[in-house]
Amino acid sequence: MSIDPEEMSPAERLLWSYGVTSPSHIDLIGIANDRNATVVYRPLCGCEARLVACGDSAVISVSESSLEGRQRFSLAHELAHWICDKNAGSFQCAKEDIGPQNAGAKTTESQANGYASQLILPTYLVDPWIKTKAVSLDTASALAKEFSSSLTAAAIKLIKRSDKAAVLACHSKIGMAWHQRSASFPYDFYVNQNLHHDTEAFTMAFTGKNGMTRIKKEPANYWLGGSGVYRVTVETQSVRLPDGNILSMILVSK
Ligand SMILES: [Zn+2]
Repeated sequence: MSIDPEEMSPAERLLWSYGVTSPSHIDLIGIANDRNATVVYRPLCGCEARLVACGDSAVISVSESSLEGRQRFSLAHELAHWICDKNAGSFQCAKEDIGPQNAGAKTTESQANGYASQLILPTYLVDPWIKTKAVSLDTASALAKEFSSSLTAAAIKLIKRSDKAAVLACHSKIGMAWHQRSASFPYDFYVNQNLHHDTEAFTMAFTGKNGMTRIKKEPANYWLGGSGVYRVTVETQSVRLPDGNILSMILVSK
């Protein structure tokens, strides 16, 4: 593995300093304990996770009722507060504060999400892993399994690191909740606010059908708007998330 720690993000450098060279080495509880933070899983009311700091030690509580991938992201998020926001005291973080889709802004919460994303899916391990793989939810699902992350976190990482023109979109019945473009997704295309009634994603959203669709070629205008979109086709794949929203990977094929 040829790696230059100088080019790493702070979270990656932390993992590197612990000798992490494979996904199975990422031991978040071990890192927390090494930094004087105890991790407990317990029922939490009104928040998803919290950090109670007391001098040089802390207790990180994570909601015991959340799914495993979500709990791991919450733990990484609180660990980010403990390491990066050391003088800011304690944190009580709501479900809306914690998530890989909220990692770009310059607020304390989104910075903690950015740090958490790198702790769980560090670029220096993800890039070699995704190198030869397709941009699809099948790949994101395998990535999630390999790195013990949520499917959403893995899909966001895959799209951010891809050199293909693709976009990831999350829709509820009432419209798009968020989306993430790859760097080469055409700047003059945008994702439609509502699911098209001829897509399987629409059927999943409105019938409650579970599962992941197969990759399918569709007219781009089912999903996208913008100049020249009618001349383009896309490859799409959708999955119903545990919260009922529909996550779709849309790859511009020509
Ligand atoms: Zn937070």
